[in-house]
Amino acid sequence: MNIQEIRSQFPILSEKIHGKPLVYFDNGATTQKPSSVIQRINDYYAKENANIHRGVHTLSQEATSAYENARTTIQQYLGAKESHEILFTKGTTDSINLVAFSFGELLTAEDEIIISAMEHHSNIVPWQMLCERKGCKLRIIPMNENGELALDQFETILSAKTKLVAVTHISNALGTVNDVKHIIDKAHKVGAKVLIDGAQSIQHIQVNVQELDCDFYAFSGHKLFGPTGIGVLYGKEEILNSMPPYQGGGDMIKEVTLEKTTYNELPHKFEAGTPNIAGGIGLGAAFEFLNSLDMEAVLQHEQELLDYATEALSKIEGIQFYGRAKNKTSVISFLIEGTHPYDVGTLLDKMGIAVRTGHHCTQPIMDQFCIPGTIRASFAFYNTKEEIDIFIKALERIIPMLK
Ligand code: PLP
Repeated sequence: MNIQEIRSQFPILSEKIHGKPLVYFDNGATTQKPSSVIQRINDYYAKENANIHRGVHTLSQEATSAYENARTTIQQYLGAKESHEILFTKGTTDSINLVAFSFGELLTAEDEIIISAMEHHSNIVPWQMLCERKGCKLRIIPMNENGELALDQFETILSAKTKLVAVTHISNALGTVNDVKHIIDKAHKVGAKVLIDGAQSIQHIQVNVQELDCDFYAFSGHKLFGPTGIGVLYGKEEILNSMPPYQGGGDMIKEVTLEKTTYNELPHKFEAGTPNIAGGIGLGAAFEFLNSLDMEAVLQHEQELLDYATEALSKIEGIQFYGRAKNKTSVISFLIEGTHPYDVGTLLDKMGIAVRTGHHCTQPIMDQFCIPGTIRASFAFYNTKEEIDIFIKALERIIPMLK
């Protein structure tokens, strides 16, 4: 993998922050965008802009086919059976809320939903809201001190009452890769459906939704080198067909009279109103970019970055790591004794280094470790060992200043 060639495709990586070359280690929050994605969005607005699906004129037809081609590119990348199983949403949060509100309509007070103790708030709160609305029960798969799910305990809470299991593929706070195939197989044995929060996975591992056999897969475009404000919910056709619409409006209807409305086919039934057309097209370009990479080389490089950074950080006195799972992606969460994460993050920023500090929208994880938050460095394939050296040197300068 030619990292310098890849880096040259990301214009922001040549920017300076406070006069220092940018070292961007906040990829868990959002990733940077290659020129091909930026250019594709620009071209859409400059040359193809029109509303989709209902115009007879040329521009409308061009915009429609660009948007629908993006859907097909994503379908093929994910290995989904049908392109209409790919629903465009605003992002992971919107995708999960869609399932909680629509699939949730089918649940009753006797039903149970299982999530895990390592979920992002967007895979906790929609289920709590659903339980408040419907009276169903929320059950939790616990997490051990290494930041791994206690899968033996999952089996004890799984029962015929379980209607949905919603778990993250990869923890954004700890980097743990969960054995979602195991969870899916066990859940299907009791007839439960499974939603995988894929916000942190598609950019780090190869995902095939048919091989996984998940019922729903949710993710955000901006975390995989695409635009903000666009994401995807993959759902199995049969299940999506059994669910009521999430929102009402234009495009999701077949026929409207003042007395009654009939609903459109998939995917339109779940895509009310004018969508984020430029976002969908830009996301298609992001998947084309991913297609151009050697994914095995990407994963190997990210693993090398993780190992290199973990080893270098281990030498820092007073460092405490959070998340020591055996199967982990390129996320390192840590604290340094005698310093506050916010102060470390602020001083790193002054040196051009972007990391995230805080609870990472996973307050239950922080509560379990009895800490308010961590410093999180999260790497993408465009990061380098030289950047990690800069990061370590910066920490060595900062720590004595804060103690
Ligand atoms: N789930 C996980 C695991 C995440 O990391 C995030 C974002 O950090 C989300 C869900 C929410 O994603 P978004 O804010 O793009 O909807």
